[in-house]
Amino acid sequence: MKYGIMGYSGRMGKLIQEVFNERGHELVYRCDLKEEFRDDVPQVIVDFSTPKAFDRLMVKAEDFNCSLVVGTTALKVDDIDRLKAYAKKKSVVYARNFSKGILIMKNMIKGISGELHDWDIEIIEKHHRFKKDKPSGTAKMLAECFDFEVPTSSIRMGGIPGEHSVLIAGLGEIIEIKHQAISPRTFAEGACSAAERIVKLEKGFYTFDEICAMEEQDG
Ligand code: NAD
Repeated sequence: MKYGIMGYSGRMGKLIQEVFNERGHELVYRCDLKEEFRDDVPQVIVDFSTPKAFDRLMVKAEDFNCSLVVGTTALKVDDIDRLKAYAKKKSVVYARNFSKGILIMKNMIKGISGELHDWDIEIIEKHHRFKKDKPSGTAKMLAECFDFEVPTSSIRMGGIPGEHSVLIAGLGEIIEIKHQAISPRTFAEGACSAAERIVKLEKGFYTFDEICAMEEQDG
């Protein structure tokens, strides 16, 4: 697969290159805040950058007429609408979290959220000191699993790759559902599986849940 990266010099951009290279894919387009290189037309651009790069991403996608795997968090509703409009002609995957564990956690919470109206619930997320958005896109995604408002606390410390806990407390007991990313490589691996899948799909807007479900169906 010929692929491009938006945000190639960032923490995630470097891991994307590592994982895609190991899986035999060829980097033909790379862009960051300062530079842009193009050796060929990518079949897909993988975006782990910043919402500020979104316009540029869409211009490039139109230019190359390529698929998109978008992992940048804190995009605006208008940006997501633009991705959905683009998905009418090319395939797009958008996910605020590309790890399979978070997917399992989200499904667990959806399964029990209807029974939790009498409990105190809070989401606590911890990330490295460089993470710019707060709360994380994943924390927002977990909060959306409830049909009532759930408070979120954010902690930014050291090099924590990413930790999300949902605390569910009654007066005499507490449940904690927790996910820890041991290495951010896991997100790059998820993005790579998504890219490998959608370059084979003509068009459509896909979530990471849908990509993983397709993988399971294939066995
Ligand atoms: P980073 O700050 O290390 O890297 C950002 C990159 O974007 C850099 O290469 C920078 O040069 C580039 N950039 C900045 N402005 C740009 C512009 N105007 N045009 C083009 N490129 C520009 O950040 P990071 O830790 O690599 O995270 C990147 C994004 O990925 C964040 O939004 C983060 O929340 C998200 N993220 C998502 C997941 C997921 O699973 N979806 C996982 C981890 C991180």
